[in-house]
Amino acid sequence: MNCYWHPHTPAVAQCTDCRKPLCEVCRVSLNTHPYCEACSANHHQQSPLAAFFFGLLVPGLGQIYNGEYLKGVLILLTGWLILPWIYGIVDAVVIAQAIAEGRRPAQGVPPGYLILALKIGVVFLSCLYFGVMWTVASLASLYFLGGF
Ligand SMILES: [Zn+2]
Ligand SMILES: [Zn+2]
Repeated sequence: MNCYWHPHTPAVAQCTDCRKPLCEVCRVSLNTHPYCEACSANHHQQSPLAAFFFGLLVPGLGQIYNGEYLKGVLILLTGWLILPWIYGIVDAVVIAQAIAEGRRPAQGVPPGYLILALKIGVVFLSCLYFGVMWTVASLASLYFLGGF
């Protein structure tokens, strides 16, 4: 089988998404899986460092970055207990590392445009989250100080 774009060059891999045969030049490696140029744009290289910062900024965001939406929402809801938040940061880094090394399938990992939206959403979400937490904390302290 020869490369889809270079009919005279033997293929060394097949795109994970569209199954087109690829030569050495056309092959793009993401999370140890081969992709063609076009399909690689729909994915992103899983980064443990990004997972760490996402998880640090907003509880559960590191899980959403890894494609584990349900776990992410659970950690977001319980993040105010602090312990699930810390667990979430560690978990996000470990899972992102595993995906990046190909030890875990990258299925469900959000495509490139979703990551861009996540990055924009990080600031908004963290402001909202800390705003709510701050309000709860100040209301609680008011209550305990006998403000009501
Ligand atoms: Zn492809
Ligand atoms: Zn080629």
